[in-house]
Amino acid sequence: MSKKPSHHPVLRFAPSPNGLLHLGHAFSALVTWQAARALGGTSLLRIEDIDTERCKPEFVDAIFSDLAWLGLDWPTPVMLQSERLDVYADAGNHLRHADLLYPCFCSRSDIAALSSATDPDGAPLYAGTCRQLDRGQQIERLQRGDPVQFRLDTQTALDRVGMLTYSVVGPLITDRPQIRYARPERWGDVVLQRKGIPTSYHLSVVVDDAAQAITHVTRGRDLEAATDLHVLLQMLLGLPTPIYHFHRLILADDGKKLSKSKGSPSLASLREAGWTPQDVRRALGL
Ligand code: GLU
Repeated sequence: MSKKPSHHPVLRFAPSPNGLLHLGHAFSALVTWQAARALGGTSLLRIEDIDTERCKPEFVDAIFSDLAWLGLDWPTPVMLQSERLDVYADAGNHLRHADLLYPCFCSRSDIAALSSATDPDGAPLYAGTCRQLDRGQQIERLQRGDPVQFRLDTQTALDRVGMLTYSVVGPLITDRPQIRYARPERWGDVVLQRKGIPTSYHLSVVVDDAAQAITHVTRGRDLEAATDLHVLLQMLLGLPTPIYHFHRLILADDGKKLSKSKGSPSLASLREAGWTPQDVRRALGL
């Protein structure tokens, strides 16, 4: 059984400042604040900016002004993941000392060439090539300075923790949660520490949800499968597992998810075009 979260409901909205927020983000934020209100709890804002190449300070400022324009507020100071790399490195070391991480020297093309299946996001599943390296080979390549990332030995981890379950709640956040089985094996040996950075999305998110005593995670259905992995990491790191709510995704006219990269209209551009926060809520059915 996983540890129980603490009692006062704490939720969070955790965008990455790699572009301007769009209606999908507004929906996620508004659902989170609504859920916090229904539970009599607090909503926090966390900035997930570990990707220093894509994340920009001007997008952090834009997140603050867009959310304030929507009428949301949050306690300060706001947690910035880029300021917590040493905390993630400690979590990584914990897993390394437990022999659950191994160095991987494969390039993107090596991975694609050897993969015979895909993960839940449709990316090539890692074939486990570098899991076969012995200590001597690992040390030699590390000393040579080959670019390295660290992967979780997912099967060994699962053998240690046994069956994993977590609680999921529907749109009525105050309803009784349902128990669900987690199947992290469908992700294979995921990267937990990327090249040149001691963390990854998966590692940071579980460390920070625990650090901020998050009791309920509200996130889009696109992160539903990744949650299985998060529950495994929580068990391995001795962290509590929050209750999860997966909200619907806001789709573009072509039926695909809104995205910054596909040029979905930003909240800032809608505001400039004369939209009010009420228009946003109405468009989102809130
Ligand atoms: N930072 C993630 C994103 O912008 C979401 C955080 C989460 O719910 O885990 O997609």
